[in-house]
Amino acid sequence: MPATRLPILMYHKVGPVVAGSHVAGHYVSRAAFERQMQWLRALKFTSVDLAPYDGVFSVNRPIAITFDDGYRNNLTYASPAMQATGFFGIVYLVSERLGATNDWDDGLEPLMSVDEVQAWLAAGNRIGCHSATHAHLADIAENQLSDEVNGAKDQLQELFGRCVKTFCYPYGQSNATVKRVVQTAGFEAACGTRKGSNRAESDQFDLRRINVRADTWGPLFLLKLLRAYRNAA
Ligand SMILES: [Zn+2]
Repeated sequence: MPATRLPILMYHKVGPVVAGSHVAGHYVSRAAFERQMQWLRALKFTSVDLAPYDGVFSVNRPIAITFDDGYRNNLTYASPAMQATGFFGIVYLVSERLGATNDWDDGLEPLMSVDEVQAWLAAGNRIGCHSATHAHLADIAENQLSDEVNGAKDQLQELFGRCVKTFCYPYGQSNATVKRVVQTAGFEAACGTRKGSNRAESDQFDLRRINVRADTWGPLFLLKLLRAYRNAA
């Protein structure tokens, strides 16, 4: 039966909180993440990539598991837990920060290097683009916007030898110009941070997501997932 809803989970970091972190709320513990994957499996979800967007809805119960920024802990903790339960994730990479740290935030958390992204892909996971420097795309000039969108896409495609088809707006920030540039660059879908789930006819350049955080404890995860099902764009 074709699906009518697409929930997209949004994660940042999985695993132990780095000492001094300014954004401890962005972490999900390894145990919580493993339990969440087991619930998704029990609920018979199938993980999907977001391109081609129409194709997502031919899957019986699709879910996209996304990770913003490209933290190394996604490879260390989330990837094995997804593999063990038959899922894969999509990580949104900041093309000029591979192997560096999240310098747009507290700068304490390591990001996957090129080799680590290769290992992420080899484990069956996917990649998408999260700009070149984690810029505020709605606030910059159009030539800079092109570097952040087209430039980042080219860079990732060259590094990993594959077409990068989906985008994720840093800070969830977009507007008509940003969306147009993303679409013109050849991306087929883009994630924002509005809450809810999506339908086939939703704006595929501002997809809604379900934010999974440190405080999304226990069954609250299931409640958020259910609520997003009802609240489809
Ligand atoms: Zn981000």
